[in-house]
Amino acid sequence: MLGSGGVTPNPHRHGPSGAVIVNDTTYLIDAGEGIWRGLARAAMSHPEQIAEHLAPYRLTSLFLTHLHSDHTIGLPAVWLMPWAYGREVPLEVYGPVGTRSLIEHLEQAYQGDLHERRFGPGATEREIDAHKIITHEIKGSGMVYEDGNVKIEAFHHEHGSFEQNFAYRFTSRDRVIAWAGDGRVEGQLDRAARDADLFFCELSTEDMIANANWGGATVEEKARTIWSYHIRPKELAAFATEMNVKQLVTMHERNYTDPYEPDALMAEFKRHYSGAVHSARDGDVF
Ligand SMILES: [Zn+2]
Ligand SMILES: [Zn+2]
Repeated sequence: MLGSGGVTPNPHRHGPSGAVIVNDTTYLIDAGEGIWRGLARAAMSHPEQIAEHLAPYRLTSLFLTHLHSDHTIGLPAVWLMPWAYGREVPLEVYGPVGTRSLIEHLEQAYQGDLHERRFGPGATEREIDAHKIITHEIKGSGMVYEDGNVKIEAFHHEHGSFEQNFAYRFTSRDRVIAWAGDGRVEGQLDRAARDADLFFCELSTEDMIANANWGGATVEEKARTIWSYHIRPKELAAFATEMNVKQLVTMHERNYTDPYEPDALMAEFKRHYSGAVHSARDGDVF
């Protein structure tokens, strides 16, 4: 878990990002704010277990769930910093339609940095294409990637007005990991999550929704808006039970307690859910 946080600037939780490690290969999911520091934190928390897998030269593929800024704002960092630290191949980015435009504009925005690092006095001998991004736009639900380690499928589920908002299902020889960055059950979240060994999913409070700083002026308006983007606790509980997930991991939590009570949201969720569940913290390894 590289970043378990959300839009709210929580000093203990970076923006949403994770890494799935299969054998010697690392697959990043989402690029939230602080991903570069989140990688360092995770590596330093588990030096024997994963530090080598999070080395900059291994950060060569990234899968975006959707194009909300909180899931993509770390993209320049995870593109440019690992390159500056020795990534030898282009970064491959998979994401919804619109990813290409986002990346083309980032490439324009960072021309000055790219030129200076490639040709300035501090430039070192590098692979000629290593600074590039190769973009793979996902046209629709289904298989998006396969290699000797893992099969990766993407399934759309609803999240506000996005036409594409993907949950990823990673299938390796011995494990299924599902990752829903944001969004509701409606759509094909079931195809991502069914029988998963690990299901990473957002969690929002219903009890404290009156304190939400967005969604409308009244509780009714906030509820209408927020539940068009996110899963209610009781819905997630019923869904995870029905899907037979072995371990649920909550992340990207909306805990609107005021004053902030870190454990209140999980206490609320456990009123609905009796299965195995863990509220992720940055640097956790599952
Ligand atoms: Zn979102
Ligand atoms: Zn989000």
